[in-house]
Amino acid sequence: MITHNLGYPRIGSNRELKKACESYWSGKISYDQLIQAGSDIRITNLELQKKAGMDLIPSNDFSYYDHVLDTSMMVGAIPARYSRLKNNSKSAELDLYFAMARGYQKDDVDITAMEMTKWFDTNYHYIVPEFEQNQKFELWSTKVIDEFIEAKTKGIVTKPVLVGPVSYLLLGKERDKNLNKLSLLPDLLLVYNEVLTILSENSAEWIQLDEPFLAMDLDQKTKELFIETYYGIRNRFPKLKIMIATYFEGLRDNAQLAVNLPVNAIHLDLVKDPEQLDEILNDVPENLILSLGVVDGRNIWKNDFDSSLKLIKKAIGKVGEKRVMIAPSCSLIHSPCDLDLETNEKILPKQIKNWLSFAKQKIEEVVILKRVASEEKNDVFIDQKLSENQKSLSDRKTSHFIHNVIVKKKLQSLSELEGLKRSPFPVRKQKQQNRLNLPSFPTTTIGSFPQTTEVRSWRSKLKKGELTYTAYTDLIKQEIESVIRWQEEVGLDVLVHGEFERNDMVEYFGEMLNGFAFTKNGWVQSYGSRCVKPPVIYGDIQRVSPMTISWIEYAQSLTSKPVKGMLTGPVTILQWSFVRDDQPLSETCLEISLAIRDEVLDLEKAGISIIQIDEPALREGLPLRKNDWNSYLEWAVKAFKLSYAGVKDETQIHTHMCYSEFKDIIQNITDLDADVLTIECSRSQMELLDVFADYRYPNDIGPGIYDIHSPRVPSDEEMLALLIKAARVIPMENIWVNPDCGLKTRNWDETKDAIKEMVKTAQSIRELVNSEITVH
Ligand code: GLN
Ligand code: ZN
Repeated sequence: MITHNLGYPRIGSNRELKKACESYWSGKISYDQLIQAGSDIRITNLELQKKAGMDLIPSNDFSYYDHVLDTSMMVGAIPARYSRLKNNSKSAELDLYFAMARGYQKDDVDITAMEMTKWFDTNYHYIVPEFEQNQKFELWSTKVIDEFIEAKTKGIVTKPVLVGPVSYLLLGKERDKNLNKLSLLPDLLLVYNEVLTILSENSAEWIQLDEPFLAMDLDQKTKELFIETYYGIRNRFPKLKIMIATYFEGLRDNAQLAVNLPVNAIHLDLVKDPEQLDEILNDVPENLILSLGVVDGRNIWKNDFDSSLKLIKKAIGKVGEKRVMIAPSCSLIHSPCDLDLETNEKILPKQIKNWLSFAKQKIEEVVILKRVASEEKNDVFIDQKLSENQKSLSDRKTSHFIHNVIVKKKLQSLSELEGLKRSPFPVRKQKQQNRLNLPSFPTTTIGSFPQTTEVRSWRSKLKKGELTYTAYTDLIKQEIESVIRWQEEVGLDVLVHGEFERNDMVEYFGEMLNGFAFTKNGWVQSYGSRCVKPPVIYGDIQRVSPMTISWIEYAQSLTSKPVKGMLTGPVTILQWSFVRDDQPLSETCLEISLAIRDEVLDLEKAGISIIQIDEPALREGLPLRKNDWNSYLEWAVKAFKLSYAGVKDETQIHTHMCYSEFKDIIQNITDLDADVLTIECSRSQMELLDVFADYRYPNDIGPGIYDIHSPRVPSDEEMLALLIKAARVIPMENIWVNPDCGLKTRNWDETKDAIKEMVKTAQSIRELVNSEITVH
């Protein structure tokens, strides 16, 4: 039995890679210094895993930006627009790589970046490979080989990790409509063959090919391609040990396909789907090694050794120790690095820390599981580890930190709250209009205004004790006052307070709710050098006191125009946190709903007439397999609706989502029954609105006409064209005028110019309609 790892976090325990890359991009350090920083991280990670006793350590899991982009570099899938940056030096290779990831603007050359999208259902984003009509592949970057040799000179024969060829193509996108990306497979395989040849020549023994798509819905054609591909590889490399790694889902209907591929080992995510083991053990081909992913690579809880051992022993019982490997469920890039660095008890209390495990600790857990499973008897160390584990798990199960009877009781009376129905939309709309008296095409923004360095410095001074709470509040209030005045001046119809008091739309609420904990250093890579530090939901969630009321009330007191109360919705809070694993997600989500509902009702009581509950993460929570969509959507919609259950017809509920691909879930979006839905639309030139038109979406909708993800200030003509396009498909009386998303990442100059233009746009369309020049 051996232990192995699928990938170790590459950001460095203190985000060394982020710092090095950003310094390199801004010209503060040289190419050599960046390369040194990368090498230091790789060697540290290798040695850490070796010291922990990991048998098979991965290489090529490191990346300066993204491992899918690394693969594109390896196979030379470099879109034509970057050709001029191609050059044979190593430093030019890295600059080309960063240009593909981030775009290139220098000396009159302006090349756009490649697209980025979410890596399955994680919060990691990868750079989408682009395939052109006459796409050719060639071995371009030898990174995987270099890093294998680098480790070997340190005395470690690693297991190089590559994105598997089929998954690589499936992750990509055709630039040409006539191209079918899967037709590129034979050519792509030539490069993979070349790489595998060089690795074998350098005496690599194991290769890990990640094929997460084997755990997704597949059509017949793709299934056949998997078979062809792996028979091809097997025939060419009869001696190389190939492991196929699957994760994020169970194999389900693809189990037979996957276990019968002619490879040496297959990795299974037994955290996501422990039940798949039985089915696979029933019918496992002779000689296939099963890699059991029992330690959760995506969450931060200590492993439950007893349940992992049950799975491991079951497998050993069936196929024998030699055909069992133990591993984390997926690459550890989705885990924070090292729990040992969490030494500040004020941030993370000791008791909660004792329930957690980050990447470094997960490696230790894998190693201990092997030692226990191989029944090394009379081992004091093992006995101690086992009893520690049991103790900490039972402590967590019974802790009064976690269980809150009031919350549980409230959850039992949900049906009562669900029974609190509002009138149908047209009736509500009339009542709201009587109260708000808004013009046609009302203008608003999504909530945040620029978070300047100054505003952020106040918060950090408050934390350090350099600013009293009163002084801090005064500063924020001044900021609110000036943004209210400015919004009145430009003539926006529905104002916002600007969200200056919020560090982050989830953390802000988490910090005020019971059941949340935070870390000092629990960073996880989101994309490139960007990392996030998700809060930890460890217990029952309860609102202790109002979270936003005083800010919104203050803002509303300054103006006679309506100010929106701004909240983050339950699904988004859940989705962007590490979530407890001791109860269903749906239950945790409903607890958050109830807490948000308390806030909604208090806002209403304070006289706030419009409340926005943001749900930008609702769609990304969709399960990977379509079969599971309905059950998710059912509780997600329920949680959202519950968060405003009991509000009066006169209170207008808004929600916001930063995307608008609603094709498959338009019914569920309608079921949310928000009075106003603001979405992102400008990049797609409003094309995404067609779904709403076809479906006859009944409520109000604000298709973003200003793309806030770019520093460009759009002209009013440009925005008017978009608005007219929207008015062709959506009834005019339902249309709102707003940007795509919040403005916190923009600067004030751009923001002011763009919002002025946007208000002008609304005036223009009102005039157009009034002058009876029909836009239809
Ligand atoms: N209200 C939030 C803001 O304006 C919404 C952010 C988001 O959708 N991601 O910043
Ligand atoms: Zn948004």
